[in-house]
Amino acid sequence: MHRRFRLLTAFLCSSLLAPAAHAGGLKVSLTERSQWPSPLTSPRAFDVASRAEIAAFTEVMADADASTEPPAGDAASLAKWKERMHGVLVENFAKARETCATGALFCEGAVPKDWAALVATSRAGLAKLPADLAPWYAEQKPFYQGYLYELVRLAGLFPKTTSEILPLSPSEKFGLELPDRSFLLTFDDGPTPKGAGGTDAVTSLVRAEGIHAAFFLLGNNYEARRKATSVEQLKALYSGMCVGSHGQEHKSHASWAGAVPGMESFHPKLAESLPEGQTKLTLFRPPYGQRTPEILQVLERGGMKNILWNIDSQDWHASNSGPKAAGRVLSLMLVWRHGNILFHDIHPKAAEALPRIWRDTRGSGVKWVDCHEE
Ligand SMILES: [Zn+2]
Repeated sequence: MHRRFRLLTAFLCSSLLAPAAHAGGLKVSLTERSQWPSPLTSPRAFDVASRAEIAAFTEVMADADASTEPPAGDAASLAKWKERMHGVLVENFAKARETCATGALFCEGAVPKDWAALVATSRAGLAKLPADLAPWYAEQKPFYQGYLYELVRLAGLFPKTTSEILPLSPSEKFGLELPDRSFLLTFDDGPTPKGAGGTDAVTSLVRAEGIHAAFFLLGNNYEARRKATSVEQLKALYSGMCVGSHGQEHKSHASWAGAVPGMESFHPKLAESLPEGQTKLTLFRPPYGQRTPEILQVLERGGMKNILWNIDSQDWHASNSGPKAAGRVLSLMLVWRHGNILFHDIHPKAAEALPRIWRDTRGSGVKWVDCHEE
């Protein structure tokens, strides 16, 4: 396993040279998370699974730390990201320990207070996993190795290429400010053309579940749909949801000269078709999560907030599928325990993944945050 890990590390280092965060050809890490033997039907069941997923990811991170090959990229950003991630995992494991029953998995000894203690607890727990969890471990460990490479790559590129991996300003929201077990569903790149499914299917599905999700619209797609239908129909399309801006065009807002003029022309138009219940246009998300301090200043002047994410379904990727997008998101919900989840309503995989995510977390104490509270 260690040898394979080193080879993958070498692959990661070379892939750091790739130019764009979402460049085609990059691998994304996927899992169906089909081997966990018990459903997450109570807060305690969610916490047992959460402790196991955090331990598996912690072990993978600790193994990478022990590697003699330092990862390529911006050393200061990598160090900052690693410290942030260690803190998230220590804090989340402590939350997941709150429902520990005597003799339960990963409940032995004191609650780990720092990274070294979490690594020791994780390794000790994984070393004596019950036999029925061996298939789960075999499925999830490679997933976390791949997931770690995704994160390390983005951290190494920062701040030359900004992304959701680290904040540029404390005003930006990633979902980490939400309470434990609370998640905001977000969808980018719509709306799809009238009659094409996509946005219509996803908004109907989310509405039927009683959830108020945030949709980040692209100016070009918005204008095409508005031309083909009407302002009234756009309001109805997003009824119960919140609409935000994803910029005029799907280009990096860190390098595209048209970014600010595009926002200035698109935002007043978008503000004319806000669904009932939403009084102002306040939410923004840059394509690829790429932005500059100047973009943040423009948002602040307009009374808008930059809404990023910490849980990426990677549903846009050709190798992904509905079941794999669901498995990836469920795994990351158990690791992160709160946050903003990124899907795309222009791809059919969101509509395939969401019903399983809702079904598998029913009764677990998971709360779907109302976008109007953002
Ligand atoms: Zn996008």
